Amino acid sequence: MLAIRGRGCHTFKRLSQYGAARAGRLSDHVRNLSYLAEMGPLSETHEMLRKTCADFAERELIPIAGELDKTHKFPAEQIKKMGDMGLMALDTDVEYGGAGLDYLAYAIAMEEISRGCASTGVVMTVNNSLYLGPLNKWASGEQKEKFVRPFTTGDIVGCFALSEPGNGSDAGAASLTATLDGDSWVLNGTKCWITNAHEASATVAFATTDKSKRHHGISAFIVPMPTPGLSLGKKEDKLGIRASSTASLIFEDCKIPKENLLGEDGFGFKIAMQTLDAGRIGVASQALGIAQAALDCAVSYSSTRTAFGKSINKFQAIQFKLADMAMQVEAARLVNWRAAILKDSGKNFTKEAAMAKLLCSEVATSASHQAMQVLGGMGYVSDMPAERHYRDARITEIYEGTSEIQRLVIAGQILKEYGV
Ligand SMILES: Cc1cc2nc3c(=O)[nH]c(=O)nc-3n(C[C@H](O)[C@H](O)[C@H](O)COP(=O)(O)OP(=O)(O)OC[C@H]3O[C@@H](n4cnc5c(N)ncnc54)[C@H](O)[C@@H]3O)c2cc1C
Repeated sequence: MLAIRGRGCHTFKRLSQYGAARAGRLSDHVRNLSYLAEMGPLSETHEMLRKTCADFAERELIPIAGELDKTHKFPAEQIKKMGDMGLMALDTDVEYGGAGLDYLAYAIAMEEISRGCASTGVVMTVNNSLYLGPLNKWASGEQKEKFVRPFTTGDIVGCFALSEPGNGSDAGAASLTATLDGDSWVLNGTKCWITNAHEASATVAFATTDKSKRHHGISAFIVPMPTPGLSLGKKEDKLGIRASSTASLIFEDCKIPKENLLGEDGFGFKIAMQTLDAGRIGVASQALGIAQAALDCAVSYSSTRTAFGKSINKFQAIQFKLADMAMQVEAARLVNWRAAILKDSGKNFTKEAAMAKLLCSEVATSASHQAMQVLGGMGYVSDMPAERHYRDARITEIYEGTSEIQRLVIAGQILKEYGV
């Protein structure tokens, strides 16, 4: 049984109150998963969190996810409610306004929220693990007061700027420059593909202070948004997660105070890599939520659709698809939880997080593909959510390190373990 650390009970209380208000109205999905509490490692708090998030997804996200996707509308109202529930800063210390829960709690909550709406899931994961994650670990007390506390409530969100037009997978080749000028850092260059860019009130941006040192010349900076000298590119027109914004950040002689350096000068690459290790558990959870939603949709449709005089769920071909999807989702969930539990126990989890991200994202792609097949023609039109799940799933194989990069990370760790 995993103990919830710190003063997470404060959030637990808030979540309990939310859950109690909806007691007895939980979805079939929630009831069907209740056995997970018995097998451990889910504690009562984790189980309560899961039920509360599942219920929130049923009531507040599933009914509007299709519309948000069509209109590309940022889910501001839902994010605010999630902030009130403690979901926008789940593992941030209570001292700075966070929920003080552990990473297993984060993985569980992220999955349920993403089952309701994958776009809302990405906004949540970027704020929790990519923006607050590095600040929780490396920011000074003063920086936390300014750049952590206000980002815990759901009123504002942050973003994470690592990728550039010339380098995504090769993050060590950062070309955004930061030059010290008196009491300011001056940033020049472009970051691209930045999630939450159009709504964010601050970003953690990675820039090189000394190109000759390559990885060791990269530093992390906290940049308030808006800031003079920082402009936004157009919103990218994406295949999926269309209710979240993705855009470039263009820095032109953008001055930020000297004290906005995060951690030490030259620590940026380390901060980025450690942030992505944890972030991958968030993306894996998002992928699981999409896969579970695809399975839920396929089971439900196959039980009501008839062909050749019987329900299509009586056909073995359909049953085999449902069985494979369910098996893959369960297996992937356990791999992801294991990565989260390793992180919570302070052990190295780089390999396990990469495995979780790789497996969960490929399961999401495969499950949403199969769900579309189960729905036949109805899988191909936006009247049903299956086509959205199919589009949303695909990004989980790309961001926070492509599947190819995850395989490189896993292989690198295995070879290290074998000492070769
Ligand atoms: C919707 C969306 C949101 C995003 N959000 C963010 C964000 O918030 N912040 C941020 O910093 N970035 C973000 N990204 C960027 C994302 O992380 C990158 O797109 C991703 O890391 C891949 O980089 P790339 O696009 O430059 O592809 P490339 O690095 O050019 O890769 C192209 C292909 O080559 C393969 N490849 C590259 N190197 C190797 C290698 N060594 N071995 C084998 N294969 C290799 C890749 O796997 C891929 O198949 C986002 C991207 C998208 C699409």
